[in-house]
Amino acid sequence: MLTFDVLTLFPESLSGFLGSSILGLARARGIVDVRLHNLRDFSADKHRKVDDRPYGGGPGMLITPEPVFRAVDWLEAHGFAGRRLLMTPAGRTFDQPFAQELAGEKRVLILCGHYEGFDHRIVEGLKWEEVSIGGYVLSGGEPAAVAIVDAVTRLLPGALGDPDSPKDETFTDGKIEYPQYTRPREFRGLAVPEVLIGGNHAEIRKWREEESKRRTAERRGQATSGG
Ligand code: SAH
Repeated sequence: MLTFDVLTLFPESLSGFLGSSILGLARARGIVDVRLHNLRDFSADKHRKVDDRPYGGGPGMLITPEPVFRAVDWLEAHGFAGRRLLMTPAGRTFDQPFAQELAGEKRVLILCGHYEGFDHRIVEGLKWEEVSIGGYVLSGGEPAAVAIVDAVTRLLPGALGDPDSPKDETFTDGKIEYPQYTRPREFRGLAVPEVLIGGNHAEIRKWREEESKRRTAERRGQATSGG
């Protein structure tokens, strides 16, 4: 069982995703546990304040050190030991090999920023891996946390209905998946490729391999990950 601890100012923004579909089922089946912790609960301020203006001026507010350090202290006092990921657009890009790495862990802590980000002592003072989900800036780390929890959970044994599902997917072996079709055989003049209907499994395998190769070559550098 893999346990995620997510530190966030907006736990409610995550609960819909975490309760639905494959993630919701994986949690119900005890394959993954996701614990949401509200940073405000760790504020020492009587108004539960967690942010303040930057020294030296500039726009926006920063998350102050105290609630984050107190939250990490609390987690450690309650047995947390594991990977610690800090969400930031400046981090290592999260990709499929990274997801596979995390799927082998027991505990993963995810810290979501908000506003203009973190007081830098949070970044330097606690041992984080800085992680980005892509080359753009979000208003908070919550969508990043959801992306990570989701991509990792579906790799855990038992999370998907068919254990073979992740085997020839996009990014597995650095390849893009072949196109797939379901019924009807013809839709608005668009037909399913004949080879898939014939039932010749050697031919189907060959066709899929070729399509996967062709699409990978076409999109190299855009959608492939790691190789
Ligand atoms: N001023 C910061 C951006 C703050 S965005 C800067 O220039 O780097 C607010 C928060 O959203 C960040 O603290 C981070 O936790 C989250 N965030 C924004 N973009 C992200 C991305 N691409 N990947 C992961 N987290 C991101």
